Amino acid sequence: MSRVFNFSAGPAMLPEEVMRQAQAEFLDWHGTGMSIMEVSHRGREFMQVAEEAEADLRELMNIPDNYRVMFLHGGATMQFSAIPLNLTRPGDVVDYFNTGAWSKKALNEAKRYARVNIVAEHATEIPEPATWQLSDEAKYVHYTPNETIGGLQFHFIPDVGDKPLIADMSSCILSEPVDVSKFGMIYAGAQKNVGPSGIAIVIVREDLIGNAREDCPRLLDWQVQAEAGSMDNTPATYPWYMAGLVFKWLKKQGGLEKIALVNRRKAKKLYDFIDGSDFYHNPVRPQDRSIMNVPFTLANPELDKTFLAESDAAGLKYLKGHRLVGGMRASIYNAMPEEGVDALIDFMADFERRYG
Ligand code: PMP
Repeated sequence: MSRVFNFSAGPAMLPEEVMRQAQAEFLDWHGTGMSIMEVSHRGREFMQVAEEAEADLRELMNIPDNYRVMFLHGGATMQFSAIPLNLTRPGDVVDYFNTGAWSKKALNEAKRYARVNIVAEHATEIPEPATWQLSDEAKYVHYTPNETIGGLQFHFIPDVGDKPLIADMSSCILSEPVDVSKFGMIYAGAQKNVGPSGIAIVIVREDLIGNAREDCPRLLDWQVQAEAGSMDNTPATYPWYMAGLVFKWLKKQGGLEKIALVNRRKAKKLYDFIDGSDFYHNPVRPQDRSIMNVPFTLANPELDKTFLAESDAAGLKYLKGHRLVGGMRASIYNAMPEEGVDALIDFMADFERRYG
C-alpha cells in the first residue's frame, strides 16, 4: 500500500502516525477488548479520552481558564446559526466582514436572526482598517480569518474595541499560535487541521454563555452544552478521539510555534514558485495570502483537465479548485508533509515545461 499526497480542502489528510495508531488500537483500545467507538460516552474509557483531548487542546492553544471548550455536532455551519441565537435578540445589529464564500455563508445565516452590518468587503485582499465600518450597536463582530476557497487570510487580529470578536477558524485552527484572549468565541469544523468530520471545536468566553434566546434549539445553546460537557446528547465519540490523537501528535511536533514555521515554509515555497512563473497565477494580494489553501490558475484554462488528470496519476490528489472560483487549489494543512509540497512543485514545473 502506498499513501498519496492529498490536497483536499476537507476532509483532508491526517498525519500518517495518527492513522497508524488509530489502526493499531482499532479493535482493542488500551487492552479493554473494545474499540473506543464501541463504548459509552459516559464510561470511564471515553471520559479519559475526552478530558485529555480538551486538556491537550488547551495547552496547545494556551486557552485561558475563563473560556469553555466544547466538541459539538453540526460542524462549523451549525455555529453559523448558534452564534446569533446565543448572542442576539430579534432586531439586534451584528457586524460581519465579508472576505469570501465562507464569510458570506455565515452572514447569510445570521440575517435570519439579526440585522447584519457589513464591516468591509473584498475577496482578494484584506480591506484596510481605515475603511472598516464597524457599527456602534453591534452585539459582536464576526470574521473568517482564513477563507478556504479564496485563499485569503487575515495575518493579524482585527481590533474591534470591546466588542466580542468571533472567528471561524475552520481552515486555520492549530496552524499557528493565536492569542485566544483577544476573542469572544472561536469555532472550527474538524475536518482540516483537527481530525475527521463530524465534530466542531467551539471555544467561548464564559461571559458570552447563558444568553441564548428562548427559542434557541437546546443543542445549540452553549450553556446547555457547556454544563453537559458537550454531552447533552451522544457526542461524535470517534472524531473526538481522533482529534485527541492529532493534538498529541501536534504536541510531539513541538506545538504551534514549530508547526507554524513548517507551514510558512511550505506556503512560501509554493507561492514563490507560482510567482516566478508566467504559466501559473494566484490572484490574492501577496501579504494576505493563506498559508493553508493555495488557489492558482493556469494561463490556459483549456489545460485544466489535463493538469488534473496527470497530477492525479502522479499521486497528487484533489487539486481541483472550488467550483466558485475554478482553477486549482492546493490545501496544505498541518498533516501535508513538506515532501508533498515539493512533489507538487516538481510536477507543476514539469507540466509547464511540457505544455507552457
Ligand atoms: N467555514 C469555513 C472557513 C470552511 O472552510 C468550512 C468548510 N469547508 C466551513 C465553514 C463549513 O464547515 P462544516 O462543513 O464543518 O460545517
